[in-house]
Amino acid sequence: MTTTRDYYEVLSVERSADGDEIKRSYRRLAMKFHPDRNPDDKEAEQKFKECAEAYEVLSDDSKRKIYDQYGHEGLRGRGAAGHDFNRMNVDDIFSMFNDIFSGGGGRQGQRRAQARGYDLETEVVLDLNDVLTGVSKDVEFTRMDICDTCTGTGAKPGTEPITCDTCAGQGKVQQAGLGGMFRMVVACPTCRGRGKMIKDKCDKCHGKGRVGKKRSLSVKIPAGIHDGQAVRVPGEGEPPAAEQSPNGQGARGDLHVVVRVKSHDLFERDGDHLLMEMPISFTQAALGAEVEMPTLDGKRTLNIKKGTQYGDLFRIDDAGLPNLRNGHMGDLIVVTKIETPKKLTKKQEELLREFAETEDKHVNPESHGFWKKITDIIGG
Ligand SMILES: [Zn+2]
Ligand SMILES: [Zn+2]
Repeated sequence: MTTTRDYYEVLSVERSADGDEIKRSYRRLAMKFHPDRNPDDKEAEQKFKECAEAYEVLSDDSKRKIYDQYGHEGLRGRGAAGHDFNRMNVDDIFSMFNDIFSGGGGRQGQRRAQARGYDLETEVVLDLNDVLTGVSKDVEFTRMDICDTCTGTGAKPGTEPITCDTCAGQGKVQQAGLGGMFRMVVACPTCRGRGKMIKDKCDKCHGKGRVGKKRSLSVKIPAGIHDGQAVRVPGEGEPPAAEQSPNGQGARGDLHVVVRVKSHDLFERDGDHLLMEMPISFTQAALGAEVEMPTLDGKRTLNIKKGTQYGDLFRIDDAGLPNLRNGHMGDLIVVTKIETPKKLTKKQEELLREFAETEDKHVNPESHGFWKKITDIIGG
């Protein structure tokens, strides 16, 4: 076994997820961590294998039941632990779940008809100012693309792929199913479904017909977008796999650009509103004041009313973020925090003492919630 992590966590799905959700999530993660897209990244490879293991179990109802009830141990105990993905090479794992990766997870029959490449996922990081205005971001990602040297055939220029002996060019073979009770058609293991074998492999792609290519794009991110949401860029994913379409004819998959929004020093986001804590002096709180407030969009004036208490809320209209759908602006909510001076000049202290003389020092526990609680506890 490759992992001891919870399989649902590995695939980031809820325990109640249905088969489709599990499939979609596995597909997305397997594409993300595929070693072709993460060259020399051992961690990505490990994650790729971990996902395959989790998918093997959660996509099989009986294994999933055992796992739900007894966990990893249960699977081992019942001889249902599945493949040792650590010992398998990535291409074999990939072709094991071949049907998920081919063209939107379509059924076998429609596969040839609509060759479609894989979707890819990448991330951009925004700050709140980008969210306020919307922004164009340059994203760079690696995708498996058609090898220029062999134009996708995998054969050395000047040579041609030959018909596969194992499947006689069909790309499929019959295999005995469960206990030999029925037979099923699977992709030919020799040619991986291509129907052709490559005698002289292309030097550049080693016969795969695809090579990792860096691609950069400018992607428009709309104002008001939230952390974790994605912008889909149609047709910027990969061309159909070599098995389906050696020369890459057919639709490319899409690119999903997942947005991460950085936290801000001053503002905290709450939906389309922003929250901020504003320190004011105790005299400003007592006497009232006009204070300058920073917003994402320059300064605004806020009127602090006389007698403001710690934690009072003020609202500055339309100084929040635009709503993604309708563009309506959220507000900036200001929470006051009253600061008591730690140091006083001689003059200030004199004035405060004078002020204190005039104060009514009588505390009536009945009229003051906090003191009432204290007197309840100490029985005063
Ligand atoms: Zn090539
Ligand atoms: Zn074959």
